[in-house]
Amino acid sequence: MINFNVQVYGKEKLLLMLHIRPHHLIDIIRNIGQGRPVVPHPYGHAQHTITQTILAGTVREISFVIGADDLCKPCIHLTAEGICKDILPQLEYRVLKQEYNDDLDRRVMEYLGLKENATVSLAAFLDMIEKNMAGLVTVCTHPKEDESSRRFGLEKGIAFVRGGWGEWEIGRVGEGER
Ligand code: SF4
Repeated sequence: MINFNVQVYGKEKLLLMLHIRPHHLIDIIRNIGQGRPVVPHPYGHAQHTITQTILAGTVREISFVIGADDLCKPCIHLTAEGICKDILPQLEYRVLKQEYNDDLDRRVMEYLGLKENATVSLAAFLDMIEKNMAGLVTVCTHPKEDESSRRFGLEKGIAFVRGGWGEWEIGRVGEGER
């Protein structure tokens, strides 16, 4: 189980502050919208557990970082110094994922007008993505990824996250349409 930076906001429900790279969160929302299974990844990172907490409605605020985040913490590619030693798999030439991610997250944050360590509510971030959808999709689409498929996933994912697990499970019924 991932060790989040936990902050208690209410007596009845434990609500979390998530420290995450903006593109990791955007990818999670896209994955939800595309109906991808929420299962452990061979890298051991925390994408599935973070997805579960988001869909369960227990993430209250997001603090955006450029560097190793809550998702990376249990990953086999994270060094003790907090550096990602993985290589970006989509390209024919060698690009360190650390460099690719840092550059991507800087561009995403600049596009959204966010500063590093800025804290926003998850609800506000969903609104922000929705409002900036057209340009943001171009900024955050990965090499060899289809831009329209990313946009479709993000639009659906935003709706599912707003609705929580229930909406997501309903959405998965129509998975064949995707
Ligand atoms: S960015 Fe690197 S360390 Fe973080 S989850 Fe991905 S592969 Fe692992």
